[in-house]
Amino acid sequence: MSDLLDPDKEKYSQEEIAQEEQVRPKNFHEFAGQPHIMDNLEVFVKAAKLRRESLDHVLLHGPPGLGKTTLANIIANELGVGIKITSGPVLDKPGDLAGLLTGLEENDVLFIDEIHRLSPIVEEYLYSAMEDYRIDIMIESGPNARSVQINLNPFTLIGATTRSGLLTAPLRARFGINFRFEYYHTELLGMIVERSSRIMNMPIESQAAIEIASRSRGTPRIANALLRRIRDFAQIKGTGKIDMKIAEMGLEALKVDKHGLDEMDNKILSSIIDKFKGGPVGLTTIATAVGENPGTLEEVYEPFLIQEGYLMRTPRGREATEKAYKHLGKIKTMGNQS
Ligand code: ADP
Repeated sequence: MSDLLDPDKEKYSQEEIAQEEQVRPKNFHEFAGQPHIMDNLEVFVKAAKLRRESLDHVLLHGPPGLGKTTLANIIANELGVGIKITSGPVLDKPGDLAGLLTGLEENDVLFIDEIHRLSPIVEEYLYSAMEDYRIDIMIESGPNARSVQINLNPFTLIGATTRSGLLTAPLRARFGINFRFEYYHTELLGMIVERSSRIMNMPIESQAAIEIASRSRGTPRIANALLRRIRDFAQIKGTGKIDMKIAEMGLEALKVDKHGLDEMDNKILSSIIDKFKGGPVGLTTIATAVGENPGTLEEVYEPFLIQEGYLMRTPRGREATEKAYKHLGKIKTMGNQS
């Protein structure tokens, strides 16, 4: 199993993050897929521009690596405004937030990644900023302490989260626009791989692009990471072009799962099969068995396993499907039939 299949960018090196930037789409036209989001968003952006108003606050949620940060940058770009980027865990003091907010020009975008990790006190400050474009900050301390109201320029907050279930109701209610990202189908990911290859000046056969795409867990970040590694194989061991032979050789050498499942996906499935006779078994029980948080399991891992037909959600719990047994080379016996 390879780290490349981890869609969490916190695990990426600085160099990899820089390489990722190189292929990041810059406008609506370059952004592939997510039609349910894009159709609406283009209208909202056009309308805001026409009225010369700030776009309503936007919440982007879904598993890591599907394009939330990319889309936040594209929105600012398409609106023709500036963007300031931060993240929930970084903003630990209200003063940090106040500094960012007061630096925003009219209709700019403030992007907060991992917004579910904001501290409650910072979140509290965000409410009035989002609603009335003003903040009350305390200056000085002790007997001289007093609150000063600061008016802000109208702005758009774009929040991104992998764990929308952790957002508080008051924060969620302040987003006028709320989009959920879906995993990408292989054909679409294949197109993303071909586009990235063009940018990287590395010719690729369509069939090879599809092979890489099908092993990428429906996730553009993983597809691009695999492409970068396979490019090395093409340059050193091949003809300078990614064909099917090089793609297969590279994927084999990188020990990438045939279906793009990552280590945690496989751990979840094998523990349902081996420890709980294939299910049905409750989410919390699985979470304990694999050492992961139940919410992360539900919002980050499960949607892909369900979409790809490895897992079923039933009223009595989660069940491994035939496909899961086949994938892990296990045999479904009477004992582990539900
Ligand atoms: P997230 O913020 O959801 O974790 P990112 O926006 O950082 O994900 O996307 C990861 C990488 O995947 C980006 O660098 C970008 O190149 C690529 N990517 C994401 N979505 C798309 C898309 N729709 N089309 C093309 N490339 C994409």
